[in-house]
Amino acid sequence: MVELKNPVYATMALSTQALHADKHLRETPEVSPSVGVTTTFLYKKDAIEANNYGASQRYVYSREGRPNTTQVESTLSTITEGHAVVFGSGLTAALAILMHYKPKKVAIGDSYFGIRRVLAQYSAVAGNVKVVSTECSFEGVDLVWLESPVNPTGEIKDISCYALRAHAAGAKLVVDATLAPPPLSYPFRQGADVIIHSASKYLGGHEDLLAGVVVSRGPAMAEDLRRTRATLGLGAGSLETWLLQRSLTTLSVRVTQQAKTAARLVALLESFRRCAVSTACHQPSAADLKLGRRLAVVKHASLQLATYGETQHPNGYGAVFAVSFASKTQALFVAKQLRLHSFATSLGGVHSLVDWRHGVDPTSEPTLLRVSVGLESFEDLAADWRQALTALDVHETTSKL
Ligand SMILES: *Cc1c(COP(=O)(O)O)cnc(C)c1O
Repeated sequence: MVELKNPVYATMALSTQALHADKHLRETPEVSPSVGVTTTFLYKKDAIEANNYGASQRYVYSREGRPNTTQVESTLSTITEGHAVVFGSGLTAALAILMHYKPKKVAIGDSYFGIRRVLAQYSAVAGNVKVVSTECSFEGVDLVWLESPVNPTGEIKDISCYALRAHAAGAKLVVDATLAPPPLSYPFRQGADVIIHSASKYLGGHEDLLAGVVVSRGPAMAEDLRRTRATLGLGAGSLETWLLQRSLTTLSVRVTQQAKTAARLVALLESFRRCAVSTACHQPSAADLKLGRRLAVVKHASLQLATYGETQHPNGYGAVFAVSFASKTQALFVAKQLRLHSFATSLGGVHSLVDWRHGVDPTSEPTLLRVSVGLESFEDLAADWRQALTALDVHETTSKL
């Protein structure tokens, strides 16, 4: 076994780790890793019998492993401070966690709807897994599934509080940190036992790959997850794996910038909303009223003023937030009126996106829009919101005449 993690990089900055952490695993002198499409690898002829069909060979068949999977897991393990295993999607990664822990009673709170579907499927196969809310007692619970920041609002949960409650009940805590990858959050520092990321979001970051990552604290769970992955063929394809690896090299700059722009946009939109309802700090003009009076709610971690916020998010909150309007019609009007925010699902990529979650997830309010901030400039995105909100106000005013 080759060590995935090179301790030399453990204390370096994320941007350095993402470029160098897997270098000891490169088999050719390449600076940039190759895609590597082969499914099968030559046996070592002289060792084949002693070898038990390649048991001591690093690579035999790509369902079990291939160089670029090992390399990306090396980088991911270093940057997430754990032991990372890559899967074909975030939801496949979720299934692998359930198969590892085989829980009988799961506590789950606000979360991406797909995770709840995976849990239902798992329960149908494994037989009657009890599901309770994370806000209830954890008595008898063996697995707690916490999403923070929460999709679709971008609000955060106090991970260390849930970790203490879970551990007091003898349960394990899984944190879905898809909306705040490194350098925005490091849930092991707050006591999480396992971290899951949909790499289709920030880790991939360009809306062009599907993958998922499970990060365990120790190597034993990672080995078990790899066995499950090999048995069922749950891994990511070679192109996706390669795209993921090249995307990680820019993760730090992308995500830090996206989070900064998002925090400014949230502040701007919330200031529009408040100035339209209160004159406490500002006398609104007619134009200010147009901008703010149709905005009902803005939600994001930066507006929660949580005492644990800065410890949990040392480098900014996530770049996803939510806005709500008085009606579904108003929400859809704005989603269609925005120009630089593409009206499409998903999040975490370089393009800003706006999504009407109710369309796919009936538990999401029909008046809510989820916004994922990309790499466009703050000024251009702010202008986009100004035109869309003004157009909504004009539309609402004229349609009532
Ligand atoms: C998208 C998402 C997932 C599912 O990931 P896929 O890669 O689409 O399978 C899981 N959790 C959260 C929070 C997500 O946003």
